[in-house]
Amino acid sequence: MPTEMPTLGAQPKKSPVPGVVITALVVGAVAGGFYWWKNRAAEAPPAAAAVAAIAAAPAPGPVAVAEGTVAQAPSVPVAAPAEAKPAAKAEDSGLKSFRAEIHGPLEQAVVTAVGKGVGQPLTQVVNRSLVWWMKVPGDLLKGDELQVVYEERANAEPLVHAVRFTSKKFGKTFEAYRFKAKDEVFPRFYEPSGDELEQRLVDGPLDSWEQVTSLLKDGRKHKGVDFKTSVGSEVKATFDGTIVSKNWNFRGNGNSLKVEESGGKGRTALFLHLSELPKSVIAGQKVKKGEVIARSGNSGHSFAPHLHYQLMQGEKVIDPFESHKTIKKSIEPAEKVKLDAEVSRLKGLIGAVPGQIGGGFGRP
Ligand SMILES: [Zn+2]
Repeated sequence: MPTEMPTLGAQPKKSPVPGVVITALVVGAVAGGFYWWKNRAAEAPPAAAAVAAIAAAPAPGPVAVAEGTVAQAPSVPVAAPAEAKPAAKAEDSGLKSFRAEIHGPLEQAVVTAVGKGVGQPLTQVVNRSLVWWMKVPGDLLKGDELQVVYEERANAEPLVHAVRFTSKKFGKTFEAYRFKAKDEVFPRFYEPSGDELEQRLVDGPLDSWEQVTSLLKDGRKHKGVDFKTSVGSEVKATFDGTIVSKNWNFRGNGNSLKVEESGGKGRTALFLHLSELPKSVIAGQKVKKGEVIARSGNSGHSFAPHLHYQLMQGEKVIDPFESHKTIKKSIEPAEKVKLDAEVSRLKGLIGAVPGQIGGGFGRP
């Protein structure tokens, strides 16, 4: 399946406003201007080292193949088409900002503000933050306001540095800012309190990832959670179990493993788009929770390096964020001052809080 946009269209059905209802405004783009900005060191992918050895296992039974039910909706979008300026040097990218009032689908608001070329992929990236706060489009209301600081990149999706969403339904403004803490492999999104935006799975398949790019509840009808991460990231078994399939439906899934939980609990975990698996990894092998069983990759029907992690209970897809315990990490106290500085820098670019400026955005 091609990269599908979440269905963002369920807007006020009763609205008498005719067809084109967008009145999103671009304010920030002017206010923000161009800020030449020194990019952080590129995240060097870990070497695609050998997969951790798995203890020799009993002779495998026949490898189960062609279970082929894993519909793959690659949710890491393809590179942003270039409506952008001529490619800037990777280290020197301009930050831009916009604000948009929601009067219909989220994408319409974003596209109206920044143009179609960058607006479509930018909507997807922005949506990855919004889904931690609310249902999109279900919780969006007319008059909600979105403010974003972002960066266009040649041959890559836009990078979002700040998202602020003022929700009428929840009566508050949600905020997330991208920041690379010293002890983290990747920049992460933080709320101004220092809490991470994303929840983390306890005993999840990865220790580090850049961003969750697809959640079960994000409206894509995609069966797994996609973690954007460098090729070569360690992938761990999420429970004690047995490998029951390897590399089935290769065109879609790429290098892949299916692990069945031991102890009769009936869960199975699917790990797709992995780096090449050693021949020594075979069906029938036992794995322990937390054991490195593979390296993430970009194989099969995948447009960018990521791990697809899917949990099943029998034939039923279940949500890892409900099946696992989850935690919310906070930034280390030593890093909080730096986060605060970055938050205020980005806040300066994003403009004033709604209600604090004149014009049509004031809340009652
Ligand atoms: Zn996926």
